[in-house]
Amino acid sequence: MRILIVEDEIGIANFLKQGLEEESFVVDVAYDGSKGLLLALSGEYDLLILDWMLPEKSGIEICTTFRKNNKKTPVIFLTAKDTVKETIFGLQVGANDYIKKPFHFEELLERIRVQLRSNIEELGELTLGTIKLDLNTYQVSKNNVDVPLTQKEFSLLEMLIRNKGKVCKRSRIIESVWDIHFDYNTGVIDVYINALRKKLKLTGDENYIQTIRGVGYIAKEL
Ligand code: CA
Repeated sequence: MRILIVEDEIGIANFLKQGLEEESFVVDVAYDGSKGLLLALSGEYDLLILDWMLPEKSGIEICTTFRKNNKKTPVIFLTAKDTVKETIFGLQVGANDYIKKPFHFEELLERIRVQLRSNIEELGELTLGTIKLDLNTYQVSKNNVDVPLTQKEFSLLEMLIRNKGKVCKRSRIIESVWDIHFDYNTGVIDVYINALRKKLKLTGDENYIQTIRGVGYIAKEL
């Protein structure tokens, strides 16, 4: 799952990015409102976290424009503006939730999970053949035997399974699993796919992740 943070306080932005990455989210940061809006409108995100007071464009402007252009993507305000009037205004322009600074990371994380759950009607578990992914505990098992994966391996497998039966193009995989600073020219996807196949022993009649030559990969139950 991919999250955009728009926050001009570098310390807070970095703290959030690191914390959310440790929870296996893919995180991009914009430090001003213009860049934030541009990235938000790219449509690549599952959730936005917006500060209110930002250089160039405020969080309110971002949220208003974002909602006019679509988009059901959940938005959480994270701001020092804390009067009832301001909270109500934030919700009126289309935010799904409103958290006041200073905040507890654990609370923010739980509120993010609530938004993503209601957004995709999360059941907490994804399956691919005999493979199970627990989205609450980040544990992966095959035939009920635990298979330890790295965060990136988990994100990649999650993305493929969410798109089960559909070809995932290499560019989409990169957009979904790696952040915007990723070097597109490396063969890193193949390295990760091979690692997944090895760890999950995907051979013979359990070859659930198949290569579509020149295009990408597909997760399939055989
Ligand atoms: Ca600010």
